[in-house]
Amino acid sequence: MRKLIVGNWKMNGLGAALGEAQAVAAGLGEAPARVGLCPPATLVERMARGLAGSAVRVGGQDCRAEASGAYTGDVSAEMLADAGAVLVILGHSERRAGFGETDALVSAKVEAALRAGLEPIVCVGETLAEREAGRALSVVTGQVRGSLPAALAGRDFSVAYEPVWAIGTGLTPTTAQIEEVHAAVRAELRAVLGESGERAPILYGGSVKPSNAAEILSAAEVGGALVGGASLKAADFLGIIAGA
Ligand code: PEP
Repeated sequence: MRKLIVGNWKMNGLGAALGEAQAVAAGLGEAPARVGLCPPATLVERMARGLAGSAVRVGGQDCRAEASGAYTGDVSAEMLADAGAVLVILGHSERRAGFGETDALVSAKVEAALRAGLEPIVCVGETLAEREAGRALSVVTGQVRGSLPAALAGRDFSVAYEPVWAIGTGLTPTTAQIEEVHAAVRAELRAVLGESGERAPILYGGSVKPSNAAEILSAAEVGGALVGGASLKAADFLGIIAGA
């Protein structure tokens, strides 16, 4: 299957940044990968309109588990879908750490995404302290088990392994470390979801850039990449996609 390369713009991008998304679409050519871009919620609708008919799919970066209600400031999965999103990132470490998101909440959000017809990208990853304590595999597999509801069986989704210590730091795990965690995630996916857990891509995320993309993307069980900083500029993001 072609790799899945998704850009997470985080809280970056005003209307003028949409030109970068257009440049990604224009530069794809015979892309070796499936490509997605997740801008801030304010840009989802405009980006989806601008990229309509292109190979780039648009996504949200989070959603509320409820469909609607008195939740000031939040956005539901249905609202993202209504705005033109087809993907949604859930359980990003910046949400888990900064907003106290638990595995149970992430699982509820995944169910919400499925209800709205969005394809979830569920993030997991250990902190540096957890890795240094020898707990990387148990933390990550625990997050997989707790964050993925049974409703994912038969649905399209992906898991993104993002070591917290590699996000935005310029540090990356060794290929052996990535392969060790991805193998453990695959085993857990199989145990939890059977055949559906067999075919879901496992993305790697954390300081992916054009210069390291090809090596990371060729590692065993790496089905694609979730890219933060290097997805903000079309040239960098296209450079990563070229490594697929
Ligand atoms: C991310 O936050 O999803 C991420 C991978 O960020 P960066 O590529 O900037 O490390």
